[in-house]
Amino acid sequence: MNTDTTTVDLAETPVAPPATPDRPDRRQALADLRRRVAGTVHTPDDPDWDAARMPWNVVVDQQPLAVVDVRDAGDVRAAVRWAVDLGFQVAAQPTGHGAVHGLGGDVLLLRTGALQEIVVDEQRRTATVGAGVKAGALLAALDGTGLTFLAGSNDDPTVVGMTLTGGISWFGRAYGLGSDSIVSVELVDGLGRHRTLSAASHGPDADLFWAVRGGGGDFGVVTRMEVALHPAPQVWGGRLLWPLERLPELLGVFARATAEAPETLSTWLHAYQFPPVPQVPEPFRGRSFAGVAVALLGDAEEGERLVEPYREVPGLAMDLTGDVPLAELSGIAAEPTEPTPGMEWSQLLARLDEDTMEAIVRSVGEGSGSPLPVVQVRHLGGAFTRTPDGGGAHGPVHEPYNLFLLGIPAVPELAPAIEACFERTGAAVADAASGRTLLNFGGTRAHSTWWSDADRERLVRAKAESDPLATLRSNRPVSGTMGP
Ligand SMILES: Cc1cc2nc3c(=O)[nH]c(=O)nc-3n(C[C@H](O)[C@H](O)[C@H](O)COP(=O)(O)OP(=O)(O)OC[C@H]3O[C@@H](n4cnc5c(N)ncnc54)[C@H](O)[C@@H]3O)c2cc1C
Repeated sequence: MNTDTTTVDLAETPVAPPATPDRPDRRQALADLRRRVAGTVHTPDDPDWDAARMPWNVVVDQQPLAVVDVRDAGDVRAAVRWAVDLGFQVAAQPTGHGAVHGLGGDVLLLRTGALQEIVVDEQRRTATVGAGVKAGALLAALDGTGLTFLAGSNDDPTVVGMTLTGGISWFGRAYGLGSDSIVSVELVDGLGRHRTLSAASHGPDADLFWAVRGGGGDFGVVTRMEVALHPAPQVWGGRLLWPLERLPELLGVFARATAEAPETLSTWLHAYQFPPVPQVPEPFRGRSFAGVAVALLGDAEEGERLVEPYREVPGLAMDLTGDVPLAELSGIAAEPTEPTPGMEWSQLLARLDEDTMEAIVRSVGEGSGSPLPVVQVRHLGGAFTRTPDGGGAHGPVHEPYNLFLLGIPAVPELAPAIEACFERTGAAVADAASGRTLLNFGGTRAHSTWWSDADRERLVRAKAESDPLATLRSNRPVSGTMGP
């Protein structure tokens, strides 16, 4: 659970509160919506309401006004205009991987799954995707081209959703943040205006292009995005797993090896405690492991050389490394893609010294009593620390590691123990933590402590221009609040 919530009084910002015109009653309003959009409108009276309203992270029990499966970009525009006319709000939520608490009955949820366009231009090294395209679908389309987009661990988030708020990719140490690889964006802003943004934009559009690249979904509903592709002629990687009791030695090797790793290599350390449930495949079911997951832009020979120091840790239980076709990139982390209840806690670490490693082992290692199925330390550094010319609003990540804790409250009674473990671990690593949480690892609480004060002011100004009535609701509102 993130406790680093900062709230900013909207009255202090140039963002006007939403208009509250005389509203027709809810039934009339929804009938009007159905007339205006071509896609399916789901409402609380429908038998499929629960399936329609639930996000991927089913811990978030959201109760929006209605859900629209938009048919095309025209539907997005019609839905936003409807919300403006009637004084409601709109939130784009293609999957709900990044769902946050607090989205209520005044909000129309847009599912963009129908926007499935994928155009790969190998010559220009770009891919143009619709707002419903999931990371796995783009990776599959790129398989064999020798080019990749800045994909993360999981196939299921949309390219647009993961990229707008940074995009921490396996390939980010070599190529930087996903948001800085955005080439152009088409969106419907908070007044229902269609806007096309790129480095060639001028005036307010230029500010907006800066803002969406790291400022997230607060400025418009993106219908189409063009991203840069990067060379990946060969990818080697996978997981090496030991019994959990080897976590202390593994952490030591990880700290030393990552300090010298080339930028073409990403290494993530894991402590796993897999529950004995049918959803967990054999041979992981009911077992605990410490492990490293690696992805190398390179071949098997180089990969084997780079993981050699890890192989010296005794007791290797599983070696799941090999050549990785791009379409199988998500197999490295092998995370669930089905809807899952997830509680997350995350902090960037300024260092991984002896004290911090001991604190991690004490909090989540063997015998700690930790209820967490997944603990991850991602090695960052490399191009994450650099600001490219004309980069977007996200800004560089100077901290070399990200600590991420995942709890799965399969039954609600587990939640207090998970929160207690978050608090315990957070306190134990506090000396090394920078106090910053990456936007894409912010969990289920809307917050915006990421941006500097100056950048946030600029973001709030861009929001006031693109969405003056505060019609749009992002999971990471740039004002620092979840809206009115
Ligand atoms: C299992 C798992 C693994 C993950 N791994 C990584 C990783 O490796 N790297 C990483 O960077 N992140 C990772 N994430 C975080 C994930 O990228 C973010 O939660 C991301 O926002 C999900 O995007 P989505 O569109 O799929 O989700 P949603 O929850 O549907 O959308 C999240 C937010 O994105 C914005 N958004 C989405 N679509 C649009 C649109 N068309 N227009 C405007 N705004 C839009 C909205 O503000 C929305 O609130 C992971 C998350 C999970 C659950």
